[in-house]
Amino acid sequence: MSDNKKKNFEVKCVNCQEKFLYYDSEFRPFCSERCKLVDLGQWFQGGYSIATKEPLNEEDINVIEKALIEKLEGEGDE
Ligand SMILES: [Zn+2]
Repeated sequence: MSDNKKKNFEVKCVNCQEKFLYYDSEFRPFCSERCKLVDLGQWFQGGYSIATKEPLNEEDINVIEKALIEKLEGEGDE
């Protein structure tokens, strides 16, 4: 059986370049929710100053989440 090979498919996170098992992450192509939020935050915020390699802290994530939610909720309302 070659199903195991599929499950061990290893990719690099598009954000932090860490390797992770593709089918292990529900946030693929990111390794984690954090990386997903960083990436979304970058395209959404544009100039938002998270272009550093530093990991986000909870506060940063909350800011990004709030902004994303506001954008999503704002769409289609008018
Ligand atoms: Zn990552």
